[in-house]
Amino acid sequence: MFKRILIANRGEIALRILRACRELGVEAVCVYSEADKDAPYLKLADRAICIGPPPAKESYLNIARIIAAAEIADVDAIHPGYGFLSERPEFAAACRDCKIEFIGPSPEAMARLGDKVACKKAAKEAGVPVFPGSPDAIEDEEEAVKIAKQIGYPVIIKASAGGGGRGMRVCHDEAALRANIKAASTEAQAAFGNGAVFIEKFLEKAQHVEIQVIGDKHGGAIHLWERNCTIQRRHQKLIEEAPSPGLARDKIRPVAEAAVRLIQLAKYHGAATCEFLMDSKGDFYMLEVNTRVQVEHPVTELITGVDIVKTMIRVCAGEKLPYTQAQIGQPRGHAIECRINAEDPARNFMPQPGQVTTWHPPGGPGVRMDTHVVTGYVVPKFYDSMVAKLLVHADTRDECMDRTARALKEFKVEPIKTTIPLHLRLMNEPDVRANKTDIHWLERLLK
Ligand code: ADP
Repeated sequence: MFKRILIANRGEIALRILRACRELGVEAVCVYSEADKDAPYLKLADRAICIGPPPAKESYLNIARIIAAAEIADVDAIHPGYGFLSERPEFAAACRDCKIEFIGPSPEAMARLGDKVACKKAAKEAGVPVFPGSPDAIEDEEEAVKIAKQIGYPVIIKASAGGGGRGMRVCHDEAALRANIKAASTEAQAAFGNGAVFIEKFLEKAQHVEIQVIGDKHGGAIHLWERNCTIQRRHQKLIEEAPSPGLARDKIRPVAEAAVRLIQLAKYHGAATCEFLMDSKGDFYMLEVNTRVQVEHPVTELITGVDIVKTMIRVCAGEKLPYTQAQIGQPRGHAIECRINAEDPARNFMPQPGQVTTWHPPGGPGVRMDTHVVTGYVVPKFYDSMVAKLLVHADTRDECMDRTARALKEFKVEPIKTTIPLHLRLMNEPDVRANKTDIHWLERLLK
C-alpha cells in the first residue's frame, strides 16, 4: 500500500478521498487554490499545499504545479478525483514520468477509451452494444450520406475527441447532414485539436443507464451493476439512482458483463463507467466510457457495500480486486443521490456563491451526506456549484423516495439558494415515481 497520496482535487470529492486514505492508513496531502484556503477539510489533511490563484487553469488544472506539490510532499501516488485533470492522459503520463502512481488507468488505456471512435471499436470487439453508425471517423460528405441512409434519420454527428456535451449536431435529413458535416469537423478541430467526427443513430427518447466497473493490474475485473441517471438538465445529472427502476437482472447482466470484457480488453485498472442510452424496449447503446470515479459513485456503494474509492486505491497499489463477481451478488435495496447545487432554480439556475450562515444537514436512518460544507463556509464563485450530495438508502424505491423527501425537508441552507426545493418537487412528481421519464423530461418540466 502507498505511504502518502496527494489529492489533486477540491470540495466534496477531496474530502471523500481523504476519508478513504484515513481508513487505509495512508497519509493524505491536499492541494488548494487561494480561493479554497479556508476550506474546512484542509485541516484534516496531513499536509496542505497552495498551488496557485483561484482560476482552475492556474491551480487545479495546472499539471506542473500539482506535480511540483507532489514532489515537495514526496508522495507515492496522486488521486485525481473527477473533473479537472482526471481524464487527461498527459497528466497520467506526467505522473508516470515522475515515478508517481496515478490512481486511475494507464495513459494508454485512458486515451484508448477516451477517444470515442477508438472506444466504440473496442466496445464492439468486447460485445458491448453500441449505436449503429460509422465504424471509423468520417472522411467525406458522401460517405456520411451513405451511412446515414443505411441507419436511417435522425443521426447525430459527434467529435471523436468531444466531451462535456460539446461538438454534437443532430441531423434530421440529408440536407442537414450535408450542411453540418464539414462545419462539425472544423469546429472539432478548433475545440479539441482533433477534427475526426463520426455519425451514429440518434435516439429521440431514452433513459441514461451506466455500468460501474473496476479492474486490477492482474487482469481481474468486476461490475457493480448499474445506475440510472435520466433526470438531467443540459446534460448535467441532477438525480441518480440504483438499481435502474424496473430493469430485470437478466436484461442488464449481459451488458454489465460486456462492460467488464471491455475494460479487460483495454488492460484497464481502476474504476470506470460505461454510459449507455436505453430505449423504451430496454435495448442498450453505449455512449462513452468515463475513465475516473464518478460524482454518483456512492449510490453504487450503497447497493453493493463496496467502497469504490478505497478499492481503486488498492488496485492501483497493485493489490488484486478484493471481491469476486459472485461476492458482489445482487443489488441490495435502493439508493438515490440528489446533487445539491448552489444555484437558484427559480432564476434559471443562477449560481449562488457566498457565505452559508445556516447549514443544517439531514440525518437519521439511511441518510448519507457527502459534503465539504459547514456553517460559515463561503462558496467560491470559481468552480462547480455542487455543495453536497444527499444519499439515501432504503429497501424499496418508493421507501427510498419517501425517505429522500423527508431528508430534503430537514435540510436547511441559508441565505444562498440551492436545488433542494427542486429535488423535493421531483421526489413527488408522478412521472418520477412511475419512472416515466427520459433524458429530456426535466427540461420539458421546467419550461
Ligand atoms: P460527451 O462526451 O460530450 O458528454 P456523450 O457521447 O456522452 O458526449 O453524449 C452526451 C449526451 O448527448 C448524452 O448524454 C445524450 O443526452 C446525448 N446523445 C449522445 N449521443 C446520442 C445519441 N446517439 N442519441 C441520442 N442522444 C445522444
